[in-house]
Amino acid sequence: MQLPTILALVASSAWLTTATPSIEAVDRRAASLIKTSPEDLGTWVTEEEKLSLTAQGKHFIDITDIQDPAVLALLSTPDSEEVSLVARAVTYPTSATRQSTANPLLAQVSTSQPQSWMQTLCNFHNRYYRGVNGTAAGTWLFNTATSIAAANSAITVSKFTHSFNQPSIIVKIPGTSPSLVIVGAHYDSTGGSATARAPGADDDGSGVVVLLEALRVLANAGYAPKNTLEFHFYGGEEGGLLGSAGVFSNYKSAGKTVLAMLNQDMAGYSPGGKITVYTDYVDSSLTAYAKIVATAYTGTTATSSCGYGCSDHASARSNGFPAAYFGDEPIGTSSPYIHSAQDAYSTIQWPTILRHSKFVLAFLVEASFI
Ligand SMILES: [Zn+2]
Repeated sequence: MQLPTILALVASSAWLTTATPSIEAVDRRAASLIKTSPEDLGTWVTEEEKLSLTAQGKHFIDITDIQDPAVLALLSTPDSEEVSLVARAVTYPTSATRQSTANPLLAQVSTSQPQSWMQTLCNFHNRYYRGVNGTAAGTWLFNTATSIAAANSAITVSKFTHSFNQPSIIVKIPGTSPSLVIVGAHYDSTGGSATARAPGADDDGSGVVVLLEALRVLANAGYAPKNTLEFHFYGGEEGGLLGSAGVFSNYKSAGKTVLAMLNQDMAGYSPGGKITVYTDYVDSSLTAYAKIVATAYTGTTATSSCGYGCSDHASARSNGFPAAYFGDEPIGTSSPYIHSAQDAYSTIQWPTILRHSKFVLAFLVEASFI
């Protein structure tokens, strides 16, 4: 454990002892304790207040149910400090080496099925994580992933349940090693209230269809990796990274080895036409490796940062796992429609979906043998 982490742990413990008594004093309507920066000690908010923060484009992490002091300490560690991982189980390669395997698979990638899946995702009134539509979207996603996975009987699809009613969905292609290479996207959406229209096309229907397309190609090919590949579809991201927090807390408790977690949140709108490497609150070694893969298979990349708690890679990181986030566009020119009724099917740029589908597929092939 590095010194800054110890100090953060002490700070976190002190915060816990001061924060706990106030739980009795909070407004009874207050439901969630959220954190908006490493320094923020936490604020109790109602569900309505939480949703309205999201609508204003403000990022936060819901820490109400996070009990692990080490996770709370990492959530209070500034991005400028290196965090100590549970274990760095691998040294990442310095070049892409699996082109002869990956390229024939990349040739199978198309936008045909992603267009159909995207239409269905957008047809849900919203995919709010505490609502009936969010649950229905989870059922549809589970059934769709199961149907795709049926091409290879080795693949399993499971629901990971949470304290809220929308499950996360996990698809596993078992390898000869239990070490995990994970790609993730969230399938919930928000329009600023529990009832608002929220098609969630770019945010993050795009990441969902990118992962499903990579899964489709690998399943149809009977692809057999060394490392175990997992596709994670998180619920409750817009509620403060809730689904991914539950999944990675469980993985940490179970002592799982995660070699890489690559997040895809917004993968369908890119005026710049380049995959964007996000460099804050991520693992710099994994990010450098994933950038090598992205460059080898899709050309030059752009760079950006998105701030505290901006998406599910933060949950992998706070549980001590190496995480990276590659999106569709630098933050300043990314989709202006997200978290509203305008984040619609019509705004999706299919060459962008194609680019990210090939990147994710290439990353899975390359990383399946590290
Ligand atoms: Zn998102």
